[in-house]
Amino acid sequence: NADAAMYSAKQTGRGRHAFYRAAMNQRASQRLELELALKRGFRDGEFILHYQPRLDAAQRGVVALEALLRWASPSRGLVPPGEFIGVLEDTGMMTIVGEWVLRSACVQVCRWRAEGMAPLRVSVNVSPLQFQNNAFVPMVQRVLRETGAPAELIEIELTESLLIANVEQARTTIRALKALGLRISIDDFGTGYSSLNYLRHFAVDYLKIDRSFVTDIANSPRDRAVVVAIIGLAKALDITVVAEGVESEAQAAFFSDAQCQELQGFLFCRPLPVAELERYLAAASKGCE
Ligand code: C2E
Ligand code: MG
Ligand code: MG
Repeated sequence: NADAAMYSAKQTGRGRHAFYRAAMNQRASQRLELELALKRGFRDGEFILHYQPRLDAAQRGVVALEALLRWASPSRGLVPPGEFIGVLEDTGMMTIVGEWVLRSACVQVCRWRAEGMAPLRVSVNVSPLQFQNNAFVPMVQRVLRETGAPAELIEIELTESLLIANVEQARTTIRALKALGLRISIDDFGTGYSSLNYLRHFAVDYLKIDRSFVTDIANSPRDRAVVVAIIGLAKALDITVVAEGVESEAQAAFFSDAQCQELQGFLFCRPLPVAELERYLAAASKGCE
């Protein structure tokens, strides 16, 4: 009867509610656990940088390196940034970790220089929260001074969304960084609210076309059209274009033919820890001789 049906619906409703609550509590506690583990891991020196080469499309020689954050956790293994950058941002840890990333990259650049390696610029990813902080530019200046790294060998990678959020602030900050001698690139280009037109407001040096365009380039005439337009506009604005996530020779060939100047991706090299990267660079430079 109706009463019984309602009673049973209430029961299952309540059961479901309790189930969701339990799942949510579990989620929250996992998250808290991750937060604590991250704090401990950072304190204990478990954060490391891997470096991925960026090549010039014509000669296929390494022209720069991108520093990519990893958490080498003894219990969790090598954790990719996608799994914890959000937590660092939410907990306010990103500021201190971001400074650590920049400092480590600067120290590495100096070490390579001291070892007599041919200079390679290193790019560092910066999260919107870091970039929008008033203390960002002074921090960069301080780290450069303290490490002695030449500003010309450091590149800051920004994302589009961050430029749109506050155009004036972004413009001022980019100018200040450029005045210090750093290079600026826009990462993941084409995924945000990219109005190609707004690019002219920012004095950026590089534009990195997002991997999603590169992946589909063979099958998507639309992606090809967008990419060709991006490259054309960037050329007119004197911005160097980099294709990210190049995995096949066909993709590399398309971008080279389209006059994209630089390429990065697994086809050439995965992000590597320093020792392995040094072996790769040594082998690559031998190949060029
Ligand atoms: P991103 O800056 O766009 O970095 C490129 C990502 O694509 C890296 O992932 C790299 O390993 C991956 N990748 C490179 N070539 C290929 C390819 O051919 N195929 C495929 N499938 N993937 C490729 P990763 O290292 O997991 O980093 C993910 C994102 O995390 C980065 O994207 C960046 O947004 C962020 N990130 C990494 N390190 C830092 C950091 O120090 N600070 C901040 N704020 N964000 C960081
Ligand atoms: Mg990047
Ligand atoms: Mg990217």
